[in-house]
Amino acid sequence: MKIGFIGLGNMGGPMARNLAAAGHDVFGFDLAASVAEITMVDHAEAVADSAEVVITMLPNGDILRRVAADILPKMTKGACFLDCSTVDVDSARAVAQQADDFGLLCADAPVSGGIGGAQAGTLTFMVGGSEKSFNKVSELLDIMGQKSVHCGPSGNGQAAKICNNMILGITMIGTCEAFALADKLGLDRQAMFDVVSTSSGSSWSMNAYCPAPGVGPQSPADNAYTPGFAAELMLKDLRLSQTAATSADADTPLGAAATSLYSDFVEHEDGLGKDFSAMLPRFEKRGRE
Ligand code: NAD
Repeated sequence: MKIGFIGLGNMGGPMARNLAAAGHDVFGFDLAASVAEITMVDHAEAVADSAEVVITMLPNGDILRRVAADILPKMTKGACFLDCSTVDVDSARAVAQQADDFGLLCADAPVSGGIGGAQAGTLTFMVGGSEKSFNKVSELLDIMGQKSVHCGPSGNGQAAKICNNMILGITMIGTCEAFALADKLGLDRQAMFDVVSTSSGSSWSMNAYCPAPGVGPQSPADNAYTPGFAAELMLKDLRLSQTAATSADADTPLGAAATSLYSDFVEHEDGLGKDFSAMLPRFEKRGRE
């Protein structure tokens, strides 16, 4: 398949490489990055020319809207615009509407699995768009990932992603504050893990990504909180959840509190560049006030 790929950073680079390794003809464009294994072109519109699928992996919804406005008019009718970035639901739906106006298929397919998953081709895709769009791209999603879930019409992939990550941010904070409380109550961290990971307080944050060093499975906590999943990316996703909640008039008090805590951590404390589980040493240092 002839594939255009725009946004070849930490995630897009390895995803494009995996498509090329599987035998697809990949044309890429990025303002800064370059991938040796694909054909690089010098402007975004050039990747649209005769591509059956154009994939984007960009930083945010504003950039996605700008790139889509350049690309969509140049794409061949019936081709598919596949955005894998994490962006706001409104941008995903606006771009899908424009694609439809140009007679194109479109899917939003944000990922979970991080840079390691992008490199290994083991991402999970949460896909919004028509059945026809999903079917058109599923062969490519199978190369870049190990699981794709069709979540419904356009925007629903982004909705699933931000709801999932809102739960993740909240449970990570809950797990970290409980560990910090346990420390102050004299409860050993290993005992805390042994109880909670097999009790009703268990969660992915505790069981699979334990924020306490030396306890539970290997995680970024065992590597001085080197990401992993960076706190600033968690903040981005939590902010998207709050934008969506405002737009949908949904009450999300814990999502709002998690957003505020990660904002303090990343923007006013020392959380920038650390894994999102570094909330534990943050709570450890603090008292009640
Ligand atoms: P990144 O900053 O490494 O890559 C983004 C790339 O887009 C850069 O190479 C940049 O030069 C390029 N770019 C920006 N504007 C452009 C334009 N107008 N035209 C062409 N290229 C342009 O970011 P990333 O970590 O690869 O993340 C990409 C997306 O994936 C984001 O939406 C992010 O939220 C999401 N995501 C990231 C992770 C992660 O662990 N890094 C995990 C899940 C989802």
